Amino acid sequence: MGPEKVDLMAAETFYIGMDLGGTTFKALAVTPDGTVLDRAQADTQAVDGPQAVVQRMVETTRRLQAEVSSPTRHLAAVGFGIPGILDLPAGRVRRSPNLPGWEGFDLRAALVPHLEAPIAIENDANAAALGEAWLGAGRGMQHFLMLTLGTGVGGGIIVAGKVLHGACGYAGEPGHTVVDPNGPRCGCGSHGCLEQFTSGTAIARMAEPSYGQITAHEVALAARRGESQALEVYRQVGQYLGIACASFANLFNPQGLVIGGAVANAFDLFIEAMQTTMRQRTFVEVYNSLRIVPAECGTDAGGLGAAYQAMQHASA
Ligand SMILES: [Zn+2]
Repeated sequence: MGPEKVDLMAAETFYIGMDLGGTTFKALAVTPDGTVLDRAQADTQAVDGPQAVVQRMVETTRRLQAEVSSPTRHLAAVGFGIPGILDLPAGRVRRSPNLPGWEGFDLRAALVPHLEAPIAIENDANAAALGEAWLGAGRGMQHFLMLTLGTGVGGGIIVAGKVLHGACGYAGEPGHTVVDPNGPRCGCGSHGCLEQFTSGTAIARMAEPSYGQITAHEVALAARRGESQALEVYRQVGQYLGIACASFANLFNPQGLVIGGAVANAFDLFIEAMQTTMRQRTFVEVYNSLRIVPAECGTDAGGLGAAYQAMQHASA
């Protein structure tokens, strides 16, 4: 027992996963088996621009590193989940709707001099999908799609256990699949994107004719009281999810669809319409081989996935 124990302790490492949002960022210190050792959170204060935000992320990483490190436990790598369109090979942010001034920002060059450990960068929604793949609803699935239904609709595609990045790292934007060509104009410039029918913002808009100003959460409460207008809004959410997900499923035969984000708290209110629509529009073999499940990692998904990406990067 004695010598063996010493060897194990000498080999102990941990990873830090950072999930950057437009309002706050969150860091998790995680062991290779997924145990969260410690966590930290701070305001992004995005208006200060990228250099100031990077400095805050570096300070938080260093503080967490100092708290968790010991003579027998050291930081092996740090992963960053960043919202926006990233040029992954270059380590640059192309643009980020929630982070003003980040267009073309060389994130890798800004981070590397300030951290002793190697770093990995990933899109935040892809990181959330990796978090679910590692420790959540995607465990045991080699092929799945994660949809994050929040203020907007994000997503990540896992194929053969890895994030599908595409040619430049821009892949995995299921929220901007057109489900109604005549639908409302979308922030991306298109019309009738999935996001326009299934985000929290969209649910509030869809309920407005019946309820006036209302939040998606309040619409869910009204639906749970049995109010038909609110139930109808969530039925439509399920229907549009079903239309889009039927195409996604036919495209890559996933084992699962993992639904996360705040809107997924109303999973029970849209799942039936989603399943019905999918059954009508998906190849029967494809439909029968997949499961639709709510996400399990909650707001930790992005940080866990960023840590996981760091771990993969460090051992590559
Ligand atoms: Zn769009």
